[in-house]
Amino acid sequence: MSNPYWSDIVRELDPYVPGEQPKIANLVKLNTNENPYGPSPDVLAAIATESGDNLRLYPDPNALELKQAIADYYSVDVDQVFLGNGSDEVLAHIFQGLLKHDSPILFPDITYSFYPVYCGLYQVSYDRVPLAEDFSIDVEDYCRENGGIIFPNPNAPTGVLMSLDRIEWLLEKNSDSVVVVDEAYIDFGGESAVTLVKRFPNLLVTQTLSKSRSLAGLRIGLAIGDVALIEALERVKNSFNSYPLSRFAIVGGVAAFADEQYFQTTCRRVMDSREQLVGQLDELGFHTLPSAANFILTRHPEKVAADLMSQLRARGIIVRYFSQPRIDQYLRITVGTPEQNAQLISALSELVSS
Ligand code: PMP
Repeated sequence: MSNPYWSDIVRELDPYVPGEQPKIANLVKLNTNENPYGPSPDVLAAIATESGDNLRLYPDPNALELKQAIADYYSVDVDQVFLGNGSDEVLAHIFQGLLKHDSPILFPDITYSFYPVYCGLYQVSYDRVPLAEDFSIDVEDYCRENGGIIFPNPNAPTGVLMSLDRIEWLLEKNSDSVVVVDEAYIDFGGESAVTLVKRFPNLLVTQTLSKSRSLAGLRIGLAIGDVALIEALERVKNSFNSYPLSRFAIVGGVAAFADEQYFQTTCRRVMDSREQLVGQLDELGFHTLPSAANFILTRHPEKVAADLMSQLRARGIIVRYFSQPRIDQYLRITVGTPEQNAQLISALSELVSS
């Protein structure tokens, strides 16, 4: 459907389709990589303190308190931290402000499906680089003229992790362009590239509090990089939206970074459940890609993935399916609580034996 008032850009857009957020109660919801454990109780307490007269007042447009907490956590300077309303907003600013150049930017052909959407919106040209046979990202394929490079680590929706020494190699070979490492899922077993920021002025690392800190509903995302890159993002942000974070997000985020023990314990639980889940799926004949995320990509050699997804749904379990070539025989399943995972395994064992 088109409309004469639409611009050509809007007509050409192929918008992102978010995972379903169903209203039906009691579903086992394993489709959008949320954390099955709630946020730290300290976050809830901090938010409660903001709900009085403070809401009359605008938040700090710089959210300095949260920036400082993040800077301290990662041992960087406060002006190396950028904040946004979820990492999707941070990524939007990156595509708009840092990735538009004469040459196409590069990202994997199987990756976060928002990247091409931002390219359409901000008129950034891009090339998709095929993943290797084993679904890993081969950094040698990214050594050609480019206007920037972006990939998630671990990649989504594969869960496959790239090691830090490969990232270092990529940064060295691409010193003329910005390399963005989207670490939405890094806390579930990966090693963050934030430690490389001091050495590489072309590196920008993005993270989110939506996954490992279980705050998807609060919308907090961040980028860490060289001061000059962060300054570019601030210029974009201040050109149209000076208040990306609410008062709730600022105090909640500070409390989340302060409760290290809760963070470590819940991440460990998710990782342990992931390993258990992969073992159980193995026994049912599934092939699962090695995952360092809070989700897995898995397929059964004798079953049609789209059918399995619908059959699970009929049993009250929702998982994600992508019709894209190479992964259209896979299901992407978020790691749930041990109880949710047990329900999933019991349903799948019935389905694969029928
Ligand atoms: N990057 C990747 C790879 C993701 O999967 C997601 C979650 N859909 C995001 C970024 C954005 O997360 P948020 O906006 O909740 O921070």
